[in-house]
Amino acid sequence: MTETIVIAEIAKGTIHATTSELVTAAQALGGSPIIIVPCTDASVADAAASIQGASKVIAAKSDVFNHYDAAGWASAIDAIAPAGTILTSATPQSKDLAARIAARRNISVVQDVVAIDGNQLTSPVYSGKAMQTVALSGPAVISVRANVFDAAPSGGSCDVAVVDTTGNMATAVQEFMARASQRLDVAEANIIISGGRGMGSPDNFVHLEAIADTIGAAVGASRAAVDTWEAIPHSMQVGQTGKTVNPNLYIAVGISGAIQHLAGMRSSKYIVAINKDADAPIFQHADYGIVATWEDALPVLQSTLAGMMA
Ligand SMILES: Cc1cc2nc3c(=O)[nH]c(=O)nc-3n(C[C@H](O)[C@H](O)[C@H](O)COP(=O)(O)OP(=O)(O)OC[C@H]3O[C@@H](n4cnc5c(N)ncnc54)[C@H](O)[C@@H]3O)c2cc1C
Repeated sequence: MTETIVIAEIAKGTIHATTSELVTAAQALGGSPIIIVPCTDASVADAAASIQGASKVIAAKSDVFNHYDAAGWASAIDAIAPAGTILTSATPQSKDLAARIAARRNISVVQDVVAIDGNQLTSPVYSGKAMQTVALSGPAVISVRANVFDAAPSGGSCDVAVVDTTGNMATAVQEFMARASQRLDVAEANIIISGGRGMGSPDNFVHLEAIADTIGAAVGASRAAVDTWEAIPHSMQVGQTGKTVNPNLYIAVGISGAIQHLAGMRSSKYIVAINKDADAPIFQHADYGIVATWEDALPVLQSTLAGMMA
């Protein structure tokens, strides 16, 4: 049996919770994975040692991990990762990295995996209109969507080895400019409430924000909302040309359900749609549908949820 290797997902300098899901996914392929933690400070890797099911943690220490550069990261990880199947998250950055590592090793890459059954991997294709299943016949690099696999529990205590590595930077990043936002990012959220052009005005997104604050959700948007209103940033856009999300609950308000929007959210566990048009396509994909204007529906939803959370 070849090794399975998990590349830890790092967010804001710490190990992101999806890393535990990757360990469960790796176990579905067989064996106990090695977790590689790309870092500039090896102490970041300690948190990975407590993820149950990992056989070992390697803190891959290099200045190259200061900022993301696909070629630099791939060469630094390739230099220390043993032969085997490598799992990453399916964030845009990690999918890019997955492809780079696969190219360096001349092995297959399978992106956006949502199910693993032995050596069979399933992932959505054609913007989620169909699912494809491929069989692995050797080592590969696999990106796994968040929120699909249960997180491996904590409480483990495997060894952490610190390994210095280097990578050749193809581009030198001068500065990262993150859009300042106090709100939870849709890519991070377990619950998302999104608004579309049917919200009528960006000012009306305050009603979505009030519900989001009540239930700990992120606020998303359709492309029509983002394109129409400058106040709704692209970082909120869900869909084919926005973010792919996979929350437990997705509430679509005033969103018609165009195929390009569905491409980013149709694999959510539960979908609730609020739309005044009973024939809106979103209802064909919703687990629960409310045919009403948001003006009527949101105040009731808000007070009911507030009552439940009190
Ligand atoms: C290449 C390409 C890429 C694209 N990428 C994306 C993408 O990433 N994400 C994305 O979202 N779209 C994307 N689109 C655009 C997509 O095709 C749709 O145009 C868009 O999703 C529509 O957004 P919407 O549902 O908010 O607006 P609309 O289609 O205008 O729908 C508004 C909905 O609101 C309802 N409504 C109106 N008033 C109310 C009210 N008071 N209360 C309740 N409901 C109300 C209406 O019944 C309607 O169903 C892309 C398109 C192309 C061509």
